[in-house]
Amino acid sequence: MKCIETRGNDGQRPAFVSFSEAILSPMCSYGGIYVPESLPELGMAFLEAHIDAGYKALARDVLAAFELDIDPAAIDEALNLYDGFDDPAQPVPVVKVRENVYVSELYHGPTRAFKDMALQPFGVLLSDLARKRGEHYLILVATSGDTGPATLETFKNRANIKVACLYPDGGTSDVQRLQMVTEDAANLKVIGIHGNFDDAQSALKTLLTSTDFKTKLEEKRTFLSAANSVNFGRIIFQQIYHFHSYLELVRQGAIEMAEMVYLNVPSGNFGNALSAYYTMRMGLPVEKILISSNRNNVLTELINTGCYDLRERAVIGTTSPAMDILKSSNIERILYALYGQQRTKTLMQQLDADNYYELSGDELTRLRAVFSADYCDDEQGKTYIKEAFKNGYLMDPHTGTCFKTLDTQLDKPLKTIVYSTAEWTKFSPTIANALTGETDTQDIDALNSIARVANIPIPERISALFDKPVTQDTVIDKVNIEREVLAFL
Ligand SMILES: *Cc1c(COP(=O)(O)O)cnc(C)c1O
Repeated sequence: MKCIETRGNDGQRPAFVSFSEAILSPMCSYGGIYVPESLPELGMAFLEAHIDAGYKALARDVLAAFELDIDPAAIDEALNLYDGFDDPAQPVPVVKVRENVYVSELYHGPTRAFKDMALQPFGVLLSDLARKRGEHYLILVATSGDTGPATLETFKNRANIKVACLYPDGGTSDVQRLQMVTEDAANLKVIGIHGNFDDAQSALKTLLTSTDFKTKLEEKRTFLSAANSVNFGRIIFQQIYHFHSYLELVRQGAIEMAEMVYLNVPSGNFGNALSAYYTMRMGLPVEKILISSNRNNVLTELINTGCYDLRERAVIGTTSPAMDILKSSNIERILYALYGQQRTKTLMQQLDADNYYELSGDELTRLRAVFSADYCDDEQGKTYIKEAFKNGYLMDPHTGTCFKTLDTQLDKPLKTIVYSTAEWTKFSPTIANALTGETDTQDIDALNSIARVANIPIPERISALFDKPVTQDTVIDKVNIEREVLAFL
């Protein structure tokens, strides 16, 4: 597989790069991002051949179709990380929750959110590449809660990689904070910032553009890389669970092979939905991809009106904070796939300059042939959580937004696969509030209430966090970040 740039090539950078180059240095001409030059066509024969395949065997063959320039032994080692999920034989359970609706649970990894699906194997690949090249990499992350723990977990004690993770002090849930500040590997540094997520993210951007910082890194012979979802190394692992979930429906007798289904994706940076789109292009029988948002509904607006409009918007804090995003980075890869490099460059530059772009009528028609979208506010979301619980299913607020889309966007009586992106333990105060009306300020109180009303234990991985010693207690003003990161290196 060769990767090319979404906004075209400036004649300075290579016009094509290999997969490994794209994941080690994701920067592109004109601020674009890497995409595969073409997608493998798998089609029905592939599905039929994998009807009985286990998750890792399926994964190996999906990845093989991309012809990555990665040592197969490293791929196997990366996929072995799925053995650390709750059930190694079934890392992604698919559960029927009501007539025609199946939930694909992507949160059974070590940090209890779907970021593990991609970051667990990605960590192995990146570290293996760095080691073989004799290079050292620094991964910088700013997190609002789920990416941080998953990034730290995957790179913990891995060769040739260091991670500095910035989070807004007081801006994450207790569980998310504990998952970060109790990590104690020597190659990890967790830094709390006085401020909100935007402050953490802007501090990171300042650092990335500081020439002084760059020079210091060069002195230490360290390169910068990124583990956010613009890194194609994450997207590649996300194709697998879409194929798997479909095959699981066939195995459960819910659908016939080749029957069309809806995929329903709670979306923020659009990595999950983008990979759904890629699998559709590779031959998965998908009627439409349903995009579910919260009140930060830029994606819903884009898909319904053709306007991506940030002019009158500021991020709204919601109970599904992993989707509190206005600049959704992977939409750019959809623009590229549908309209090509030149148009993508024009649209993205317009967004940078004017905070706005508008698709033509024809372009919108092509977007709407693939996607439908709706958004769900916090109150509605709680109603869906409560209703699902009455019917025996406990779900988190991100997953909850999908049920609004199910109510409004289906125009055919087909089965739907809803992707569940977090376990109830990660956003427990919202769920406890939906179930009992209580308003907890501490996660531990909410966890205990949910465990009681649902009659289930708090998973060991979560309850143990509250007894672990805090080893990462740095909390600083953002002006001091550069010094702190350099001292760590
Ligand atoms: C990251 C995340 C999302 C959004 O996924 P994208 O791929 O960025 O669209 C949704 N829910 C949860 C719980 C997440 O952690």
